[in-house]
Amino acid sequence: VRFADFGLAPEILRALTDQGYVHPTPIQAQAIPIVLQGRDVMGAAQTGTGKTAGFSLPIIQLLLAHASTSMSPARHPVRALILTPTRELAVQVADNVKAYAAHTALRSTVVFGGMDMKPQTETLRRGVEVVIATPGRLLDHVEQKNISLAQVQMLVMDEADRMLDMGFLPDLQRIINLLPKKRQNLMFSATFSPEIKKLAGSFLTDPVTIEV
Ligand code: AMP
Repeated sequence: VRFADFGLAPEILRALTDQGYVHPTPIQAQAIPIVLQGRDVMGAAQTGTGKTAGFSLPIIQLLLAHASTSMSPARHPVRALILTPTRELAVQVADNVKAYAAHTALRSTVVFGGMDMKPQTETLRRGVEVVIATPGRLLDHVEQKNISLAQVQMLVMDEADRMLDMGFLPDLQRIINLLPKKRQNLMFSATFSPEIKKLAGSFLTDPVTIEV
């Protein structure tokens, strides 16, 4: 299999060429077609397997394919939300998304705690289609009305097991209550504990399970 076989937009394939990627990793080969079909996914994958591109590439493709019709920040409403347990992972995922969307008009940004809200606020208010965030800081921005989640079509919970370990379950529940009911959900976790299965059962709709 090659990336060119998935029907991804030329702008995305160009970004992959920039990165020097030719062949998808096993999780990418499984995840990309399923996400493109619009299905929910429960992915059991460790860091280092290429899971970030596995969810980022099809999300970018879907965002390009279904151009937003709404007006202003409104011309760039948040359509994809990627939640991570830590600032380090958020930054890493955001760097990946930026690289894969480099030849598109899509905008993305990262928000995390432990840093001044103001620069994040300014970026959010200009409008971004993709937000990568840690849960607590995202809720701070919601409370201050710096961001609306009312038009989110795709939700990713990355390293869901670590988010549970860090006590983010109440924050995750609050965030999910702010999202439209009709949306696509992707959850990734290194482990498949009973707690993760329960979380998947409550947040995912008829998910396809991927294990690598
Ligand atoms: P991740 O598991 O998403 O953190 O990715 C692990 C590392 O593999 C990252 O440094 C990626 O840049 C790299 N990577 C991801 N997908 C591919 C690919 N298809 N070919 C080569 N390297 C990749």
